[in-house]
Amino acid sequence: MKRVAIVVGTRPEAIKLASVTSALRESAELDVRVLATAQHRDLLDQALAEMGLVADVDLDLMTPAQNLSNFAGRCLGALGDIFAAEAPDYVIGQGDTTTALAAAQAAHHARIPFGHVEAGLRSGRRDTPFPEEMNRRLISLLADHHFCPTPAARANLLREGVSVEAIYVTGNTIIDTLRNVVPRCTVAKRAAPSILVTVHRSENVAALPTIVGAVYALLDLYPTLRVRWPIHPNPRLGGAIRDALDAHPRVDLTDSLSHGAFVEAMRDARLILTDSGGVQEEAPALGTPVLVLRTETERPEGIAAGVARLVGTDPRTILPAAIELIEDDAAHRRMANGASPYGDGQAGARIAAVVRAYLADRPARFDPAGPVLQDWGGVTAG
Ligand code: UDP
Repeated sequence: MKRVAIVVGTRPEAIKLASVTSALRESAELDVRVLATAQHRDLLDQALAEMGLVADVDLDLMTPAQNLSNFAGRCLGALGDIFAAEAPDYVIGQGDTTTALAAAQAAHHARIPFGHVEAGLRSGRRDTPFPEEMNRRLISLLADHHFCPTPAARANLLREGVSVEAIYVTGNTIIDTLRNVVPRCTVAKRAAPSILVTVHRSENVAALPTIVGAVYALLDLYPTLRVRWPIHPNPRLGGAIRDALDAHPRVDLTDSLSHGAFVEAMRDARLILTDSGGVQEEAPALGTPVLVLRTETERPEGIAAGVARLVGTDPRTILPAAIELIEDDAAHRRMANGASPYGDGQAGARIAAVVRAYLADRPARFDPAGPVLQDWGGVTAG
């Protein structure tokens, strides 16, 4: 029996590897092991539980004062030991975290093939977002199979010289998870407009006062507007957000929400202000416009489809865009048009098919160029 190790460290990795894990587990001939580094302990545990996943091995590596290099070092060492003990035949990692990079490198050291889920995203700036852009570029050098969410991601890898036979356009696995979650959502759309805000990128710690200023200005302009802001546990963010907004009667500051509750909040909102990658992928499928609190994105498909806009962190760009979406129904409809450029809900099954075929030493029945579709179709709101 062949063994596949799936390595997860943070919330988005658990959310985005759930469908890959379950699709691989449909094969009786595979022993699929979930290895948790626990890079972000609480958020990972919450997401794993919600995805119905249990870590087969929990390395429990998070420490209170962890910094990138000491976490990366401990993670590489621990994964090297576990790969030696468990001898997987294939390792899968997701995205651009320090966990994913350590998994790719430890697999390389052990000469185990590595499959990279969500391969080929590029912001075009090596240090932004930090450290994610460099992590994913390095993972692309290490990976044997590159599972790209979109044709544009594939084009990025081809430009960098990755072999065409190693690239598979699968769609983003986050849409697989969303399709499972949406039918369980119960909240009806609210009549009063609400804005959902999330901020967690290190680049935006310094910009928090201007983002908060823009949110305050919107609350002043619209006396019935409500703001929902689930706070990421990053200690450099929470205190400042609470100090600035906690007392406001129309601002609902919460701890991070469960994925199900967060999907309901996304669907419920008139618009979303965010610097999250996953939210840029999910919100268009739910028909909610996204204003991205960054000046560049490695997810240009949403911008091209007209369902997301880059507004940076300056109130002078955030406010006109938000005001238009609140006041102008036609403009809102144009951005809420349901185009979902990131996947069709079948990505996990496609990735599992490639990995199964590879381990059985037979060719994958899969057109490596993938579907040429840019719009994979929206997720039906339940
Ligand atoms: N998310 C969640 N609860 C929250 C905020 C976000 O479950 O309170 C989910 C969101 O739906 C998406 C994922 O977390 O699936 C995105 O993760 P995050 O923004 O932490 O990281 P990024 O996608 O930017 O790497």
